[in-house]
Amino acid sequence: MHIDTHVAQLGNRRDPATGAISVPVYHSATFAHPGPGQSTGYDYTRTGNPTRQALEEETARLERGARGLAFASGMAAIDCLCRLFGPGDRLVVSDDLYGGTYRLFERILRPLGIDVAYVDTGDLEAVERAVNERTRALFLETPTNPLMKISDIRGCVRIARARGIITIVDNTFMTPYFQRPLELGADVVVHSATKYLGGHNDVLAGLLVAKDPALGERLQFYQNSAGAVLSPHDSWLLLRGMKTLALRMQRHEANAAAVARWLETHPLVTRVYYPGLDGHPRRSVHEQQATGFGGMVSFDVADARLVAPLLSNVRLITFAESLGGVESLITYPAVQTHSDIPPEVREAIGVTDRLVRLSIGIEHVDDLIADLEQALKAAEREVKRVGL
Ligand SMILES: *Cc1c(COP(=O)(O)O)cnc(C)c1O
Repeated sequence: MHIDTHVAQLGNRRDPATGAISVPVYHSATFAHPGPGQSTGYDYTRTGNPTRQALEEETARLERGARGLAFASGMAAIDCLCRLFGPGDRLVVSDDLYGGTYRLFERILRPLGIDVAYVDTGDLEAVERAVNERTRALFLETPTNPLMKISDIRGCVRIARARGIITIVDNTFMTPYFQRPLELGADVVVHSATKYLGGHNDVLAGLLVAKDPALGERLQFYQNSAGAVLSPHDSWLLLRGMKTLALRMQRHEANAAAVARWLETHPLVTRVYYPGLDGHPRRSVHEQQATGFGGMVSFDVADARLVAPLLSNVRLITFAESLGGVESLITYPAVQTHSDIPPEVREAIGVTDRLVRLSIGIEHVDDLIADLEQALKAAEREVKRVGL
């Protein structure tokens, strides 16, 4: 079945008793036992809830894994994964990482004695060099946030397998619509479902999918024990959002490609980061592991002083954190998502104070380009007024 068909039908035919097409929301914290030692399959909602289970099973199918788990946020899902590791262990992770993940690794894992090495996970020799006998996992983002660097999933999996360690991929940017890391050999996929999967900026959620049932069981044990589960209502919101994933991703991508090409021609823009552009350094690696380029576009403006007036002059595009929703957003990574990364580290990896990130929504692309055009013009006027 095509993924377009699967997502449109998410949750349908799960309730033969009523024929409900939309999964019912089971707002019940606990469930009656038919008798001593008996269960309907549900006991207590932290352990299992029918609405959340529908989401978890459907997500596992979409990502081609054995077990799906839903959490109250993407960070809660990543935190659950971190429980696989202990003092003395080492993780090798992508160097251009989501700021919240970096904060979790540096401020929570490192003080526990877990070592984290940051490398360009598109450079397999660098990955080989960073892996030592204490390494337990590779953690990849691809494309990365906000620089759209490409990791080589298959290549990293080869390195990990040779050492008997696992590969984890944060698939938030691509979603299973464009990229399915478990099919490429990865062991776990993690999502901030707050982004494209939810798609409407109305629910905070995280998902994990494990390929192997035993690893899935172990993660479910941590999920239930630590308890940061997704609520039944939010599980339903997420399922509803995901039904239109295919349509949305197609439109995000078409719009993003057009905006990226337009930005490349703009005199105030010195560099555009989008994996679908011809000049993208690892476009071919990306094309071998994904079927699309997604809706995220970053760009450098010619002067850092343009950024503030640009952000305050957009009218249609909203200046806000987050990404992946139907509404276009503009973000300033250096002061928003990446503020927890020391300035010198930030600058060294390319997240400079001239970098702006766009999450391209599903509006008409002409309106998006017109908004950027007028905002860049206004920014230029303001900078000229105070003197360039
Ligand atoms: C937003 C995001 C996260 C964190 O997810 P939350 O739902 O905000 O907790 C993790 N990884 C990536 C790539 C993200 O964009």
